[in-house]
Amino acid sequence: MVEPIKPSTREEREKWLKEAHYNVFQLKAEQVYIDLLTDSGTGAMSDRQWSALMLGDESYAGATSFYKFEAVVQKLFGMQYVIPTHQGRAAENVLFSYLVKEGDVVPGNAHFDTTKGHIESRKAKAVDVTCDDAKDTQKEVPFKGNVSLEKLEKVLTENKGKVPFMVLTVTNNTVGGQPVSMENIKATVQLCHSFNVPVVMDSARFAENAYFIKTREEEYKDKSIKEIAKEMYEGVDAMLMSAKKDGVVNMGGFIATNNKEWYEGAKLFCIPFEGYVTYGGMNGRDLNALAEGLMENTEYEMLHTRIHQVQYLASLLDEYDIPYQRPAGGHAIFVDADKILSKIPKEEFPAQTLTCELYLEAGIRACEIGYMLADRDPVTRENRFNGLDLLRLAIPRRVYTDNHMKVIAAALKNVYDRRDSITRGVAIEWEAPLMRHFTVRLKRL
Ligand SMILES: *Cc1c(COP(=O)(O)O)cnc(C)c1O
Repeated sequence: MVEPIKPSTREEREKWLKEAHYNVFQLKAEQVYIDLLTDSGTGAMSDRQWSALMLGDESYAGATSFYKFEAVVQKLFGMQYVIPTHQGRAAENVLFSYLVKEGDVVPGNAHFDTTKGHIESRKAKAVDVTCDDAKDTQKEVPFKGNVSLEKLEKVLTENKGKVPFMVLTVTNNTVGGQPVSMENIKATVQLCHSFNVPVVMDSARFAENAYFIKTREEEYKDKSIKEIAKEMYEGVDAMLMSAKKDGVVNMGGFIATNNKEWYEGAKLFCIPFEGYVTYGGMNGRDLNALAEGLMENTEYEMLHTRIHQVQYLASLLDEYDIPYQRPAGGHAIFVDADKILSKIPKEEFPAQTLTCELYLEAGIRACEIGYMLADRDPVTRENRFNGLDLLRLAIPRRVYTDNHMKVIAAALKNVYDRRDSITRGVAIEWEAPLMRHFTVRLKRL
C-alpha cells in the first residue's frame, strides 16, 4: 500500500507538540512526516499476504484458517499447542494469568515494557540478567542481547521455588534490537532446566535474531533461516509472539508450547480475554495473512533487505559521528541521547528531549527507550536511572525507501550540530502509575 505523507512547518510542529504535552505518542499520525515510532504493525503486507486474506472461512470455531496457521507455527518452531491472541501483550496476559503469582521472581534479558508490566501488575518481580556488554553503546560485540549466565545463576540460586519461568527475549528489544547467540540460547535453557525452571521465549523478532546467528555465528552460515529458527526453539518450553513484528501483519500474536498442562491452563484464560481458542482475538483472514507472513519473513532475502536498510541508516550516522548502540540492531537504530545531550541532567530526560527536538526539526517521530520508559521502581517509586537513555529510530518493514533514511540522518545531524545549545530538558506534569511513557504529560524546561 502507498499512502501520502504531508510535510509541515516548524511553527505547526511546535504547536502540535505542545498540544501533545511533549509526548509523541499523543501526536496524530497525520502530523508526522516520517513515522519511526515503531516497527510494530506498521509493515506493508505482500501480494501473497493480501491474497491470503481472501481465502479461508470466518467460522467461530475450527476455521480452516486456524489449522493452516497452527500448522505453520508447528512446522517453524516445533511447538505442538498453539493459541492465537490479538497481539503480543495479550499472549503475555493469557499465559501469565496462569503462571505468575504474587511474590514470584521472573528473570529475563531486559524484559519488554508490557512484559514487565504484566509481571509487576501481578506483584511479581522482573529481574534483568542481560550481559554487561549491552551497557556500553560504543562496544562492538556481535551478540549484545545475550544473557549473563552468572547473573541468571545468581537469581535462580537466591530464589529457589519462586521462579515460575525465565523470559528469553530474541532479539533483545530493550537494549537495542541486539541478537542473542545460539550458544547463549542453548546455555540459558540448560542452566534454567538444571534448576527446573522453564524458559519462555519472547519471540517478536525471532527471524531477525536468526539472521544475525546466520551472519555472525560461524557454524550457522550455511544453514537456512528456517533451520536456525527451529533450532533456537529446541528445548524451549513456550513462546510468546507479537506477530506485528516478524509476522509482518498489522495485528496479531500467539502462544505456542509443547507443555500440555500449560496449554490447558492458558486456554482457560484465552476464552474470557481473547475469545475461543481457534481464533483468540483474530479474524480468520488475518490468521491466513499471518501464516503467510511467518513463512515469508523467514526467507533470507527478505531479512537481508530489511536489515541492510537499518545498517544503511547506521552508516549515514557514522558519517556524522552520531553515537548509537553499536553494532546496528535488527529493526532500529538506538541513538545514545545521554552522549549527545550531555548537558541535560538525567532528571530532565535527555532521550525524551531529543525525541522532541527531532520531531521539531523535521516532523520525524522516534520513540524514547530510556528513563521515561524505564518507569519507577514499583517499591521505592524512584525513577530508574540505571539503564541506557536511548532514542529509537524503528524502521517499519517494506515501507520506506533509502531516500527516507537520508532525510532521517540529515535531520538528526542538524540537531546534533546544535546539541550544545540544548541545555534544558523536560519535566513530568502528570504520569500514570504503570507504563507511564504512553500517556505522560510533560513540560519543556
Ligand atoms: C512488541 C513486543 C511485545 C508486545 O507485543 P504487542 O504486540 O505490542 O502487544 C512483547 N515483547 C517484545 C519483545 C516486543 O517487541
